[in-house]
Amino acid sequence: MQHFLLQSQARSISLKSVYRMTEDEAYQTFCALRWPETEGEAVCPKCGGTETYNITSRRRFKCVACLHQFSATSGTLFASRKMAFTDLLAAIVIFVNGAKGISALQLSRDLDCQYKSAFVLAHKLREAMAKEDQGRKLSGVVETDGAYFGGYVKPANRKEDRRDLRFTENKSGKRQSVVVIRERDGQSVTFVGKNEAIGLAAVKASVVAGSVVHADEATHWDALHGSYETYRINHSVNYSDGIACTNQAESFFSRLRRMEVGTHHHIAGPYLNAYAAEASWREDNRRMTNGNQFLTVAVSALASKQSRTWGGYWQRNP
Ligand SMILES: [Zn+2]
Repeated sequence: MQHFLLQSQARSISLKSVYRMTEDEAYQTFCALRWPETEGEAVCPKCGGTETYNITSRRRFKCVACLHQFSATSGTLFASRKMAFTDLLAAIVIFVNGAKGISALQLSRDLDCQYKSAFVLAHKLREAMAKEDQGRKLSGVVETDGAYFGGYVKPANRKEDRRDLRFTENKSGKRQSVVVIRERDGQSVTFVGKNEAIGLAAVKASVVAGSVVHADEATHWDALHGSYETYRINHSVNYSDGIACTNQAESFFSRLRRMEVGTHHHIAGPYLNAYAAEASWREDNRRMTNGNQFLTVAVSALASKQSRTWGGYWQRNP
């Protein structure tokens, strides 16, 4: 049978269909995504009132009950947008379609907008993806694994100038560890910290008691045995011994590594957690149609409050 993602029903939204919309149709789409429970009829974000004056010419509403004025995007991740509604819809389509992520440069070229706008927009969409993972509890059979990102020190050109990179003083100090915890055929969560030892606290915080945990031979996982039924796989011997296996956790890292090497070139740093959450979202939703991926991200973005990090980012960081 043909792979699901190659079948036509897996392609349920396209850039072509977005750019066939008029700006007004795109706006109506935004209203429907913002207020699904009233089928796109405005709901006052302040008092919950559904009686509104429609200031059509400015695409704004005024609440009859409390006189609060608002728009389809106020108070959401897309608050004070400058981009056209069609471009915003297109951005979400482009973003979910990129299996290895989308760089801000590519997004700015595709949408013909400034690099700065694309950079912030992509991070807002990552925030919408990450929101789904927040506080998630995992159960059943889970796999966990960690990997390091960033802090690469380029060896000096001449051999006599090279330093031993195994010593702490010769490292950059910028290296960070990502830990993933993943249900078999289910959901996953990610954590970022200084080293892989954060994994233990991460598992205890997000995996419910009575679950089964699979991990590799690294000694910081030893303490898992006290809290969970735990299986270990020694990767220097084999990748699966029929009992223990962390292949699903590894496939998360292969996606995150492909995002780093193939798309962004640099993901380590202050926003590593955002890229890790994005990779986890893409893994967890990889079998969804792209139309449903689009809906999930758009609804999450419009149900999110204005971003603390990314709302007005360039005004605060000129
Ligand atoms: Zn109101």
